[in-house]
Amino acid sequence: MRDIDEMVSRETDDPPIAKEAATAIRVLGSGESLPKPPRRRVITVANQKGGVGKTTTAVNVAAAMALRGLDVVVIDLDPQGNASTALGIDHHASIPSVYDVLIEGKGLGEVLLPVDGVPNLRCVPATIDLAGAEIELVSLVARESRLRRALAEAELAADYIFIDCPPSLGLLTINALVAAEEVLIPIQCEYYALEGLGQLLRNIELVRAHLNPALRISTIVLTMYDARTRLSAQVAEDVRAHFRDLVLQTVIPRNVRISEAPSFGQTVMTYDPGSAGALCYLNVAQEIARATASAT
Ligand code: ADP
Ligand code: MG
Repeated sequence: MRDIDEMVSRETDDPPIAKEAATAIRVLGSGESLPKPPRRRVITVANQKGGVGKTTTAVNVAAAMALRGLDVVVIDLDPQGNASTALGIDHHASIPSVYDVLIEGKGLGEVLLPVDGVPNLRCVPATIDLAGAEIELVSLVARESRLRRALAEAELAADYIFIDCPPSLGLLTINALVAAEEVLIPIQCEYYALEGLGQLLRNIELVRAHLNPALRISTIVLTMYDARTRLSAQVAEDVRAHFRDLVLQTVIPRNVRISEAPSFGQTVMTYDPGSAGALCYLNVAQEIARATASAT
C-alpha cells in the first residue's frame, strides 16, 4: 500500500526523466546568480510546532542560494541538530558548536564549518549540549541577546544567515528573534496549521516591542502541500487570506525526495536536483532573494 502511495506521489510530484534532467540542469547549472542583498540579511526560521518544515526550509533555501553564487550561513539553534545532520556536519557532543557561542562566549567564526559539496555554504552546528542551554541561559546577563551580540562581533561575511529554531518559544527561539531582522514562518498545509500561530505572532510582537524594533515577519512558506487533498488547498487559501503578500507564490509539495535527503547528509538540492522538491526550493530562494529591494 505504501509503495502504491509512493508511486502515485512520485508520479504527481516528479517530472518524467527527460524533464527531470532539464530540471537538474536548471537547479545546478551555472544559470544566473541570485542578486546579492545590499547588506547582510539575517532570517530566523520559526514556528513553535515541530515537523512543519522549518529545518527542511532553512537548509534547502540556504543551499539553493549558495548554489546560485550567494554566501550563506546556517545557524543550527535546535538541540536536535537536524540542520547540522541535513548539511552533513558532524555534531557529536565534543564538537565546538553554537552552545559554546551562547554560553561560553566563543566567536561564531570559531565554530563555523564548511558544508561539503556546496561551496559558499557554511554551518554553525548544534550539539545535544544545547538542550541544557535553555536553562543555563536564564542566569546569564543579556540572556536574550547572546546570539545577536555574537553575530555583531563576528562580522561574518555572508549575504544570508538563516537561523533554524527549535519547536518551542523558549530562550533559544527568543535569541534567534532578537538576532534577526526577518522571520520566515513555514506553515504546513494540514488541519492544525493555524492553531498556535497566534502565540508565535504575539511573541514576535513582544520581541519587536521590547528587544528588537527592526524585527518583522517577511516571509510565509506553505509546506508539504498535497495537491490531491481539498484540505491542503483550503489551508493554503486561509493562510493567503490572512497573510496576503507575505506568502510566497511558490508552494512546497509533499515530496519523497525532500524527506530522503537528510539521511544522506544532503539537501535535496544536491541529493536530487531533478526533483520537484529541489525546483520548488530553488523558486523559494529566488522569491526571497528578489524581495531584497522591498526588504531594505
Ligand atoms: P521542523 O524543523 O519544523 O520540525 P522538518 O523540516 O524537520 O520540520 O520536517 C519534518 C519532517 O517532514 C522531516 O522528516 C522532513 O524530512 C519531512 N518533510 C519536510 N518537508 C517535506 C516535504 N515537502 N515533503 C515530504 N517530507 C517533508
Ligand atoms: Mg527542525
